[in-house]
Amino acid sequence: MVAAVQPSVEQFADEASKWLSAHAQPRGDEAATHKSGGESFSVAVFHALGTEQEQHLLDELVSWNQLKAEVGYHAITWPSEYGGLGLSKEHARAYARLELAFSVPVRHETFSVTTGLVAPTVERFGTEEQKQRFVTTFLRADQLCCQLFSEPGAGSDLAGVGCRAVPDGDEWVLQGQKIWSSGAQYSQWGLLLARTDPDVPKHRGITAFLVPVRAPGVEIRPIKQMSGGASFNEVFFDGARVPDSLRLGAVGDGWNVALTTLGFERESSGSGGGSRRPGGSFQELLVSARALGRTGDPIVRDRLAQVYIRTRVQEMIGLRAEAGRQMGAPPGPEGSIGKLVWTDNLEFVSEVASLVVGPALLADTGQWATYEWTEHVLGAPGYRIAGGSDEIQRNIVGERVLGLPGEPRVDRNQAWKDVAR
Ligand SMILES: Cc1cc2nc3c(=O)[nH]c(=O)nc-3n(C[C@H](O)[C@H](O)[C@H](O)COP(=O)(O)OP(=O)(O)OC[C@H]3O[C@@H](n4cnc5c(N)ncnc54)[C@H](O)[C@@H]3O)c2cc1C
Repeated sequence: MVAAVQPSVEQFADEASKWLSAHAQPRGDEAATHKSGGESFSVAVFHALGTEQEQHLLDELVSWNQLKAEVGYHAITWPSEYGGLGLSKEHARAYARLELAFSVPVRHETFSVTTGLVAPTVERFGTEEQKQRFVTTFLRADQLCCQLFSEPGAGSDLAGVGCRAVPDGDEWVLQGQKIWSSGAQYSQWGLLLARTDPDVPKHRGITAFLVPVRAPGVEIRPIKQMSGGASFNEVFFDGARVPDSLRLGAVGDGWNVALTTLGFERESSGSGGGSRRPGGSFQELLVSARALGRTGDPIVRDRLAQVYIRTRVQEMIGLRAEAGRQMGAPPGPEGSIGKLVWTDNLEFVSEVASLVVGPALLADTGQWATYEWTEHVLGAPGYRIAGGSDEIQRNIVGERVLGLPGEPRVDRNQAWKDVAR
């Protein structure tokens, strides 16, 4: 069979640019548009919205994704069997950069988890039937899937999960609790880690499942956040049943599944591959500084330049990780470096926003592009915890990249049920 000739990045970008112009409005000069009553200014890291508004935002994003799916722009690097274009990361990056110049629906955590973390995990671990059923569906975001990993007693120590899955015929019965499950209330599915064998050491007795979260025996309770919204949830399982056909990977291989999903998470949070990220960035800081007439201040100029440089460094780190993936390497510990740099930059943007905006950050003066930054400042610390905290990323870098001695692990060879907790 003769392989189809791939368009060059330039040819592809040219086509994509035409398509975007035909389907989306260009982003204007925000300050000018604002003066004419048009453009809103949002640098929120997490949405501080009511359920209906957040659902609406998500629906808009899903519709946009499905429009892109008609021409494969939602899955540029994926093969055609999953509705993708089978092109390189470079093509995907070129598209993401082009899209930045257009006014398209804002990013949403549940969407990113479904398309960027769960879809590739199912592709890697799923049976043929599961791949056919879920990969295209999740890439298109026809249905959404949240991540049901953390528990009140198992966050950083994720391998300690205690939510039980007990076999019963060709089904499993679930009993236990998950927490911090982003977007569970907007999802149809959850990627669940459950304890299937308490008699072996913790990493070995976990199994992964794709669980319908709107089924009997599953209760989702939203948690109110300090930034105003309620996008996290507690999820309780009380006798919910899941067929064995929804088990993802082998029984007892859930830790491998989890590491793969977390690897994708670290890599995507660290990549900065051109697409819009949560929170404010150099562009929005510049918009605020201009609106406030502060771009002549030498200290503000210096800090803006530092944000710009850090952003570029972050992009380079992402490119290096991508190059490794192109050579066939699975997402590895290098993703931790990308994640650390990203969260550090988010915090630095908070610092610079405080400098640029000053007291108007704390009291809403009504001046455009000022008080909005509170949603960045209050939300940014969340990503220092989500997907593995900064301290855990440093442990990973120390042990698996730098080869430093490992942490003492007293429960290494103990059955999970015998570990003191
Ligand atoms: C914004 C956000 C979104 C999230 N979304 C999801 C989601 O969708 N699904 C999901 O399953 N979970 C989600 N989480 C949960 C997240 O994965 C956990 O909060 C995280 O893994 C930390 O676990 P913990 O909260 O139990 O803290 P703990 O593990 O109790 O840690 C408490 C503190 O101790 C430190 N610490 C712990 N162990 C070590 C160690 N060995 N060495 C050094 N320091 C250590 C930690 O760094 C932290 O500062 C989300 C969290 C946030 C903030």
